[in-house]
Amino acid sequence: MNPVESPQVHLVLRAHAPSPARLGVVYQPLPGRVAKTVLSLALFWGVCPWVVWLPPHYPWPVLSFCTGSYLAYRFWTGRYAVRWFAGECPRCRRHLRIRAGARITLPHTLTCFGCHFEPTLEPYELAREEEIAADARGIRHVLADCAGSWHEARQWDQEWIACDRCGARHHATAALRAAAADENERGRLLGELAEEGRFLT
Ligand SMILES: [Zn+2]
Ligand SMILES: [Zn+2]
Repeated sequence: MNPVESPQVHLVLRAHAPSPARLGVVYQPLPGRVAKTVLSLALFWGVCPWVVWLPPHYPWPVLSFCTGSYLAYRFWTGRYAVRWFAGECPRCRRHLRIRAGARITLPHTLTCFGCHFEPTLEPYELAREEEIAADARGIRHVLADCAGSWHEARQWDQEWIACDRCGARHHATAALRAAAADENERGRLLGELAEEGRFLT
């Protein structure tokens, strides 16, 4: 039995800030998956010519063909068996579910029953997130000219930097923290200057 792994994952949806997720999975080694795939095909497809003799004849071969295909597909693609999962829809914040025992690969697409969008559960690397979140103009907001300020948030053991105005959210890496602090400081200075200007005129 393989140990339960907990890969770093988050939920993403186009044009929305990523949202936190926690996942516990058991890796299913390739030889076992191949064996189960072959076995389900051999068994269910193999009985097709025989079950056709049972009345009412036609449903049985179709049924065993489909069952064999379905099981083979599940065993072949299910790289991980899910032990536990918790995640929030990036769009409507509703809790998403993957039932324990389900077999998935990553990235894995889920359906949100709150907003009917399909967020994707995917692994991430902090270094890569840093590149996405920061460009030449600094740490990225959802709206280009957003003047909101950044604060730190923590959920399910993941640390985030979030904008209080546009809802942008990034993983809190050292470089992004520094960029966010920088931007907050610049915002504060601009605010002070504006305030002084108001008194001068
Ligand atoms: Zn949703
Ligand atoms: Zn913002």
